[in-house]
Amino acid sequence: MTISVEKTKNPKQKPASDNLVFGTTFSDHMFICDYEPEKGWHNARIVPYQDLCVSPALMTFHYGQSIFEGLKAYKTENKKVNLFRPIENMRRLNDSCERLCIPPVDEKFGVEAIKTLVDTDRDWVPEEPGTSLYIRPFIFATDPFLGVRPSETYSFIIITGPVGAYYKEGMNPVKIYVEPNYVRAVVGGLGEAKAAANYAASLKAQVEAKAKGYTQVLWLDGVEKKYIEEVGTMNVFFVIGDEVVTPMLTGSILPGITRKSSIELLRSWGYKVNERRISIDEVYAAYEKGLLKEVFGTGTAAVISPVGELNWNGREITVNNGNTGPVSQRLYDTMTGIQYGKLPDTFGWIETI
Ligand SMILES: *Cc1c(COP(=O)(O)O)cnc(C)c1O
Repeated sequence: MTISVEKTKNPKQKPASDNLVFGTTFSDHMFICDYEPEKGWHNARIVPYQDLCVSPALMTFHYGQSIFEGLKAYKTENKKVNLFRPIENMRRLNDSCERLCIPPVDEKFGVEAIKTLVDTDRDWVPEEPGTSLYIRPFIFATDPFLGVRPSETYSFIIITGPVGAYYKEGMNPVKIYVEPNYVRAVVGGLGEAKAAANYAASLKAQVEAKAKGYTQVLWLDGVEKKYIEEVGTMNVFFVIGDEVVTPMLTGSILPGITRKSSIELLRSWGYKVNERRISIDEVYAAYEKGLLKEVFGTGTAAVISPVGELNWNGREITVNNGNTGPVSQRLYDTMTGIQYGKLPDTFGWIETI
């Protein structure tokens, strides 16, 4: 499928690189592709960024058939633009499609669409250290219809926008509230899909944790409320003695690309990494024995987010004296080094535009 490009006649003013607020500014262009049963995915085009005009009966509004992805483009010192494992995002997009009865998108074509869009808006990839262009592919149901069934038509859209450095003054360990009541997902549900619905399900716990002074919640499994799943919108890792543990992908956990990359890096450095079930009791028991060395989240936005404090039913513990630990720091430095082209791409993760 070819992608037509219609350039904007009114380029927007770009925000200053030191004043980029996540999710507020969008680049000049967007990618759109339509799906109809007879035509499949068709009419792939890059057009000026614009509002959509949709029916109030749009199935997405009523039944939530909506999925998304998130990745970034990084400008290197020699002005190249790097993408980090974009094919993984397209594979996961298709896994999400499958779970929500959305027709799949050709994965290589999806990467091509991202590259063409980013190339069109190359000037929007900021250059200041730590900044990047956030890329948001998403697919949603477009039948104007009330009634519960999969939609017959869909839109696949990609928008992008410049984002600031996540850590302006070095990595900053966060306070996490272990959520005892609400759950994010259960096995058999949507947890392993990047579905908009998962975020809707998470909001109330997030709001209540914020009001108590915590940055994010740590989710426990939806059945026993015992096994650890994720932290907010990130996967989570624990350094216990000489073992690095992350919850295994049981079906209710989002399979993060930063998670996967962290496991691969740690193993290449000789760490013992285990993907297994880990209970909150085990984490607290390890703390009591002095074995809990580090806790950190992984995700595209922050890359690595060290956890400095946990509160589980009023039991507050401080991890690594509230400081960033060596494993978190090394992962962060290596991953961002590869992304910005400062370290060799020994794993073949980078695609340059
Ligand atoms: C996107 C996401 C992650 C992180 O995935 P990455 O591919 O590493 O960015 C983790 N948990 C949830 C719930 C997510 O939506």
